Amino acid sequence: MTDAPARTIEVDLPCVRCRYLLRGVDARGQCPECALPIAESFDPRRLLLADRRWLRRRAIATTLTCLFPVFCFATFVVFVWSEAVAWMINLAAAMAVLLPIVILALAAAATAPDQHAGRQARVGRWIAVGAGAAMVMVCSTAPLWVALSPTLVRGWLVPVVAVFGSLAVIAGTGLVWSDLARRERLRSRARLAEAVVWLALFGASLLGLAWLAGAFGYWPAAEWVARIFGTVLLVGMAAVGLSWLIAGVLAARMLRRMRGEAVDPAALPSTMPGP
Ligand SMILES: [Zn+2]
Repeated sequence: MTDAPARTIEVDLPCVRCRYLLRGVDARGQCPECALPIAESFDPRRLLLADRRWLRRRAIATTLTCLFPVFCFATFVVFVWSEAVAWMINLAAAMAVLLPIVILALAAAATAPDQHAGRQARVGRWIAVGAGAAMVMVCSTAPLWVALSPTLVRGWLVPVVAVFGSLAVIAGTGLVWSDLARRERLRSRARLAEAVVWLALFGASLLGLAWLAGAFGYWPAAEWVARIFGTVLLVGMAAVGLSWLIAGVLAARMLRRMRGEAVDPAALPSTMPGP
């Protein structure tokens, strides 16, 4: 066969199923390790075959999302230690206005579809942008609410932000991870992503429970009830923040690694049967 050398893989591309390095293997054959047709490892949606600039943009956006839980933890420490109610209200208003805008921008960046994006990626993007927009709409009226009634802010704003924020965390974490895992067929990572989303969901449920029990001060509750659900609230917030942080750090690390190991699709031989 005269064109045989041109069909041999001459780059370090791992098999999409078993990660076996396919250098030196005939592109028309199967993976020597798991027998998957080589053509499947040439899927243009793979992160390893993606545009390096797109991978870089996505790694930066994903890293930036990690700043959100860090900022939340820092704010919460101030919130817990500060006795001044006015300071707490200003802080809540600043967070309520700024953070949804940050979430909106990051959600749009982190789910930015590449040139091969399918319908699912596009739908995912609109869900992420929609969740961010809903948060902006709910929270951008915060200064008005503060001016109207500090009691109303303490009663409604914080729980609304907490519930919407938690839902955005769950939707965003799930979308970003399922997209990354699907592109590289990472089953173990997909399971980890699932665990992280369940942790976030658990946290959000605890937040909701604490809200119902009056931990935010909306409904009057006995002191011991408020104390128990205040603890529930702390655990719930920690679970949501921690799950976001773990997922963000792992996803950013994976994107940086993929960028380092990226393969130029033009360097791959054809998988079409020869003449
Ligand atoms: Zn394989």
